[in-house]
Amino acid sequence: MAATATIQTTVPGLSSTGHVGTAPELTRMERIGAHSHIRGLGLDDALEPRKTSQGMVGQLQARKAAGVILEMIKEGKIAGRAILMAGAPGTGKTAIAMGMAQALGQDVPFTMLAASEIFSLEMSKTEALTQAFRRSIGVRIKEETELIEGEIVEIQIDRSEAGVGAKIGKLTLKTTDMETVYDLGQKMIESLNKEKAAVGDVVTIDKATGKITKLGRSFTRARDYDAMGPETRFVQCPEGELQKRKEVVHTVSLHEIDVINSRTQGFLALFSGDTGEIKSEVRDQINQKVAEWREEGKSEIVPGVLFIDEVHMLDMECFSFLNRALEDDMAPVVIMASNRGITNIRGTKYASPHGIPIDLLDRLLIIATTPYSETEVRQILSIRCEEEDVEMTEDALDVLTQIGLDTSLRYSIHLITAAHLVAVKRKASEVDVEDIRRVYSLFLDEKRSVQYLKEFQSQYMYSEGDSNKMDTA
Ligand code: ATP
Repeated sequence: MAATATIQTTVPGLSSTGHVGTAPELTRMERIGAHSHIRGLGLDDALEPRKTSQGMVGQLQARKAAGVILEMIKEGKIAGRAILMAGAPGTGKTAIAMGMAQALGQDVPFTMLAASEIFSLEMSKTEALTQAFRRSIGVRIKEETELIEGEIVEIQIDRSEAGVGAKIGKLTLKTTDMETVYDLGQKMIESLNKEKAAVGDVVTIDKATGKITKLGRSFTRARDYDAMGPETRFVQCPEGELQKRKEVVHTVSLHEIDVINSRTQGFLALFSGDTGEIKSEVRDQINQKVAEWREEGKSEIVPGVLFIDEVHMLDMECFSFLNRALEDDMAPVVIMASNRGITNIRGTKYASPHGIPIDLLDRLLIIATTPYSETEVRQILSIRCEEEDVEMTEDALDVLTQIGLDTSLRYSIHLITAAHLVAVKRKASEVDVEDIRRVYSLFLDEKRSVQYLKEFQSQYMYSEGDSNKMDTA
């Protein structure tokens, strides 16, 4: 059997949404909750931003620009383009990216990466970036994979591998119970080998015992089988009725196909996230197979989005990788964000806008985010209160807004939870000005912290003034 013929695109029991690789990241963000109030970009049908909608406030120009990009991605018109969101800290760059992710729809992959994440000992920087790129490319495959309620097992007969009467070449197990799926699959293969199953056989597995309860030659005539197209599937339903499945489409990412087919990792690595490096031969084979499927009209490529936050943390090697990778015809749309001004490119003495080399900057579309007005800060804080289920008096919200303007939006958002705890402690149902004052005095914002450091720097370690200033570029 040719190696490419074994390429799998589905993991039994795993839904193929194309978001598998990104799910942990998104869940993590949601649990922390910084952007959990963002439900989309808040645009109307004409892509005009509503002032406040879907948790989004203000930043109208940037949201509109993001909406245009989003529309182009949805229509599949662009791939391999890069966008930079540039603006001061807390001006909603990540929030807009999250809004785009929400609006993209389930089968367009969206991968989120903080640039510093790629500097790990487990894999090289370029491997980490390659994986992120391949996570962001979906392959939409037409298959007959729809789950029927109560279904236990299905057999896929691949005509290219198995002639009539030959041994079944490939098995696919379907069950609604994710945990037993792998186990059952193994048992099924073992039992079938013992029973010498052949093309046309239908099999039922008892989910509780894992034993074959029925193995019958209910579809025996070669003529009937010949009439079927390649990869026709038959399913044994609980009622015992043989059914031909209707076609459904599912999307997986290139990275998922890589992992599933990587012998050293196996598909379980998808659950642990511990995929390690993937051999380039595996990727080459998969690229080749996917290209064949495209030609045969069995699949299409869905360029998704790779969001690289804090892009100034990348170094020259990574930037030149990006330059090259964006030229690939299977590249996703890369959205980068940076809050840096003109600063050194990491690891060099060359200064460049946003810490990004000029040649890469030249190929970026840049979306700028601007500082918020008082009304906007107040609105965002009010939305956050609602999101966190916190009742707050108007006066307290005024004070918190002022704090947001004097310090930062992020700091004032953080004070909501803390102030709520203080209010609960004094058995009040609403957060009031005194609670805000209390937490403001308990937790320093950046400015006061620096002030404090300046006053007491002699008591800290390594505080010898500017000469030893940490290089955070
Ligand atoms: P940094 O450069 O520091 O990474 P950023 O520009 O990515 O900052 P965000 O993290 O998006 O800023 O914003 C800070 C907080 O304010 C987040 O909780 C975010 O959800 C919220 N926020 C920012 N802008 C908006 C907005 N326009 N509407 C609603 N919430 C917003």
